[in-house]
Amino acid sequence: MEWLFLDLNSYFASVEQQERPELRGRPIGIVPLITENTCCIAASYEAKAYGVKTGVNVAEAKLLCPHIELVEARPKLYVEYHHRIVEAVNSCIPVTSVMSVDEMACKLMGRERALPNATTLALDIKQSLRTVGATLRCSVGLAPNRYLSKIASDLCKPDGLTAFLLRDLPQALYCLKLSDLVGVGRAMEKRIHGNGITTVEQLCQLSPEQMRRIWNSVLGERLWHWLRGADFHSPEFKRKSLGKQHVLPPKYRTREQALFVALKLLHVSAANLRKLKMWAGGIGAVVEFLKKRPARFDGEGVEVPAWKAHMRIHECRDTVILQGYLTKLWDSCPAQEPLQVGIWLFNLVPDELHTLSLFEDDEKRHRISTVVDELNQRYGQNAVYFGGIHSVLDSAPTRISFTSIPDLDDF
Ligand SMILES: [Mg+2]
Repeated sequence: MEWLFLDLNSYFASVEQQERPELRGRPIGIVPLITENTCCIAASYEAKAYGVKTGVNVAEAKLLCPHIELVEARPKLYVEYHHRIVEAVNSCIPVTSVMSVDEMACKLMGRERALPNATTLALDIKQSLRTVGATLRCSVGLAPNRYLSKIASDLCKPDGLTAFLLRDLPQALYCLKLSDLVGVGRAMEKRIHGNGITTVEQLCQLSPEQMRRIWNSVLGERLWHWLRGADFHSPEFKRKSLGKQHVLPPKYRTREQALFVALKLLHVSAANLRKLKMWAGGIGAVVEFLKKRPARFDGEGVEVPAWKAHMRIHECRDTVILQGYLTKLWDSCPAQEPLQVGIWLFNLVPDELHTLSLFEDDEKRHRISTVVDELNQRYGQNAVYFGGIHSVLDSAPTRISFTSIPDLDDF
């Protein structure tokens, strides 16, 4: 087990039942406003038993459950409880990421990963929630990756505990519906059906390439790996690119100096890329220019359009090779007075999906880059750097600390 996912059951309704004991044990629906023209944004278990689901409109809810009590939502209260819940979970295991007001994921470490220990931990968490509110229940999912842990947490409600073991994958998923898979919405389901696939079992018979084709993106391929329990960071929903920008001090406002600053930004970004265990399939650069002021003219000056260029590249995370690409891009940069430079790396893919390079020296180059990263981490940024940026070392101070990169452990 690598991940524990926690999903509060009937969260808003449970908080209301905690705050107002007279509502406990009764079917209630939470509505944004008390009016006939709205729908339930949450329902208590007791209301769910009558078929009242999230999103059902008030008229329908009353038809399904005539004695349902409608309660106006108190968002601030739910956020307050949220913070107390996170604290309670944190007292059992550090919360790796908070996904929403009622969902969080925890990366398991060391002995926690053994199923009996992970199970005990889940029960401890459930217990600690009761200290926040006696009415609070959660469903817990345990799995080899975060994606599957979320799916597991959805399977048994309320107060459930479900685990997917690596050795049972993907067969353990065959009982699910396609729409049970996170990321398979109605449109996606239609597209999968269009390919003659109607069950998760059939989906699991496909190759990574076929999945990629159906999804028309690398996401399909990722899903193939996730369904088999692979655990890799794929900040795909958030991080598709990374990069940095810097406003040039006056002494660097030439085309040549701007390139050096851009190379330095690249040097930092490439180190981040390696730290994230990702590869870039593209590189881009942007330069904004100072306004042009014709002689004997003291008006506003004339706007010079920014220069922007990018190229797709063979998947790469090596600083030297990336510098070569950037220098090549720079050929098309006009010789205006630059004000700001930026670089970005895009089409990022994680290690697991990186098509291994056929170039022999890639591995050696990669080792050099890694050594440089290690030296810089140990002795401070710029302890070791690549030739070409030394003239601008005092520019673009690095504000990124490796420990504070967000999204690092997302999925
Ligand atoms: Mg929930």
